[in-house]
Amino acid sequence: MKPVDFELHRPATTGEAVALLAEHAPEAKVLAGGQSLLPLLNFRLARPEHLVDLGRIASLAELRRTRDALVVGAMVRQSRAERSPAVAADAPLLAAAFPHIAHPPVRNRGTVGGSLAHGDPAAELPAVARALDAVFVAAGPGGRREIAARDFFQANLMTALDAGELLVEIRFPRAAPGTGASFQEVARRNGDFALVGVAAQVTVRDGVIGDARVCVTGVGPTPYRAAAAEEALTGRAPTEARLAEAADALRAAIEPSGDLHATAGYRRDVAGTLAARAVAEAHRRATAAAPTRLDDGDVAGHPAR
Ligand SMILES: Cc1cc2nc3c(=O)[nH]c(=O)nc-3n(C[C@H](O)[C@H](O)[C@H](O)COP(=O)(O)OP(=O)(O)OC[C@H]3O[C@@H](n4cnc5c(N)ncnc54)[C@H](O)[C@@H]3O)c2cc1C
Repeated sequence: MKPVDFELHRPATTGEAVALLAEHAPEAKVLAGGQSLLPLLNFRLARPEHLVDLGRIASLAELRRTRDALVVGAMVRQSRAERSPAVAADAPLLAAAFPHIAHPPVRNRGTVGGSLAHGDPAAELPAVARALDAVFVAAGPGGRREIAARDFFQANLMTALDAGELLVEIRFPRAAPGTGASFQEVARRNGDFALVGVAAQVTVRDGVIGDARVCVTGVGPTPYRAAAAEEALTGRAPTEARLAEAADALRAAIEPSGDLHATAGYRRDVAGTLAARAVAEAHRRATAAAPTRLDDGDVAGHPAR
């Protein structure tokens, strides 16, 4: 099928884009890489009369570092961020997630901001943003505002962005020394959306996990931050017993739904298994960066916390 007729606007600045959205609300929609929006238009599931294409706004495609954050412009293409040494160094979890998104041609067009603004419950990048406590910067008629990742994802395909707002940039806190990350997922075919995916990042301090971040996609309408699993890991060494404890804590905490693709029980079980795998790999990568003690203090009789 073909989309219904629409008028295409190609603003050169964020201010122009915001003004266009205000002028044509509620019939205007933002166009980024088009990899989610264009199929919706073609199937006529979305029928905006105006499309505001962000592709000419150079400032939205900037990727830069500040002292504390890696700042990713909303229009940075996923493939560019995937290859960026700055992303690999400062946000290794973000770098680990990209290969799981679709296929290279989709990532060549798809943007980091588009994926986050779309808010698909099975997408990888929302889980990464939530795990890292990223900060979203939105621009609207009233100016700019910051939105914490925990507040950004509100429901299936719903975010905290108002209809007249643009996502401008996402600030990812820079990884501390001794940090490793891993993204693990199960999908029916390579490149499909995940049935379940787990984003994990650990920072090793004094030979144990000083900071653990675990977030799951595909088990609810928004990314699930696995606080109980994180607590089971923090201050400990990731022995098999500890990883199993964290996995069980996660399984007990989530309430996934079943659908045509997987039962709720399968999703729950796999989430725990992937979490253990992701944390173990993240820890291996972290220790490659910062040597650590490998014994579990509890087991050895020297409590680790
Ligand atoms: C075959 C295929 C497989 C895919 N597999 C996966 C997958 O496995 N995992 C995954 O995560 N994604 C997958 N995707 C989706 C892909 O990652 C998209 O690129 C992404 O979801 C949307 O990014 P985009 O830049 O293309 O946004 P668009 O499609 O242009 O926009 C998506 C939505 O976000 C809004 N939007 C975009 N940018 C902004 C902004 N700056 N401010 C406010 N609103 C904005 C748009 O109005 C629209 O509603 C797949 C897509 C395809 C075609």
